[in-house]
Amino acid sequence: MKGLYDDLVAAAIAALKNAYCGASSTRFGAAVLTESGNIYSSGQYFSETYTLTLHAEQAALAHAAAHGEHKITAIACVSTEDSDKEKYCHPCGVCKQLIYESYRKGGATIKVIMANLKGEYEIKDINEIISHPWPY
Ligand SMILES: [Zn+2]
Repeated sequence: MKGLYDDLVAAAIAALKNAYCGASSTRFGAAVLTESGNIYSSGQYFSETYTLTLHAEQAALAHAAAHGEHKITAIACVSTEDSDKEKYCHPCGVCKQLIYESYRKGGATIKVIMANLKGEYEIKDINEIISHPWPY
């Protein structure tokens, strides 16, 4: 049976192909679903400085914003980190903060779809997975 976020997770997995992972062998992919029903995806964009690396979630949010879409309803993330393809990919603290800020701008909660490479996933509200957001 098809799940509500299967297409979003498939877009995040497809984004792994074009992830620019530089020296790292791990690829990350993310896909954003907007209120209008559009999906914007990206892989990570590695920087030799590491500090300047754009995480897939950050790049996917920027991809949506570049198209004038700021009302985000869900974001899916996936990575190649687990060779068994079982573990769900969780956004890092920085990305959770950025997703939280998108929620504050958009006004409606954002579902975070944490997926594995089999296309399986768990769903949490951003407010469930960020403990002490700023601004509060
Ligand atoms: Zn991140």
